[in-house]
Amino acid sequence: MSTDLFDPLLPARVPVRGSDALFPVHRIYCVGRNFAEHAREMGADVPAARGTPVFFLKPPDAVVTDGVVPFPPGTSELHHEVELVVAIGRDAPPGLLGRHEAQALVFGYGVGLDLTRRDLQAAAKAKGLPWDTGKAFDDSAPVSALVPATEVGDLAGRGLSLTVNRALRQSGRLADLIWDVPEILRELSALYALRAGDLVFMGTPAGVGPLRIGDTFVASLEGVAELHGRIAPARRVR
Ligand code: MN
Repeated sequence: MSTDLFDPLLPARVPVRGSDALFPVHRIYCVGRNFAEHAREMGADVPAARGTPVFFLKPPDAVVTDGVVPFPPGTSELHHEVELVVAIGRDAPPGLLGRHEAQALVFGYGVGLDLTRRDLQAAAKAKGLPWDTGKAFDDSAPVSALVPATEVGDLAGRGLSLTVNRALRQSGRLADLIWDVPEILRELSALYALRAGDLVFMGTPAGVGPLRIGDTFVASLEGVAELHGRIAPARRVR
């Protein structure tokens, strides 16, 4: 009989508001350039036709649930991107999702930060190289407790905002998403097998900027969820 060489790590788990249940994380998908104003501030073209969304992934163990983010190694430019986080509660059926099927996969919503080592991302972009070191690093996905979709209702009228040291840095309306939640899940389903446990970071509004050790932040999905956190000194050992 075969045995594991060592104990596999347990998945990261995100609390569910108003419940003892935890949401075990399978994958973290992220959407790039889903607000036109942010695409412009990053120097990207915003074509009249939407084309296809930009996707990238973070490792599932990048999740941070207590808001305390150690300043990451290898960067001098850690940036915040406040985002709607969609939690998938059911495996997708095979094939491309319809709008209704896509919405039915959603367990709930939260708010999170797609933390970015902007200097490394910019260097990779300039060379046409992958973004992984800029996006997919330890502790790069702080997220609030999740709120079941049944308690949230319509998202389009809600706002997304981030304060850093109590000053407003980012604010946007979910009505301004270029691709809404069912559209993003449909596009993802054309590329990946969506599973219960997947999180989708939906893209950030304009106003991204730096975070430094000692900064405190509050990310907010209006009327639904808040994430209070801070940037802690870099880890020395794991
Ligand atoms: Mn982002």
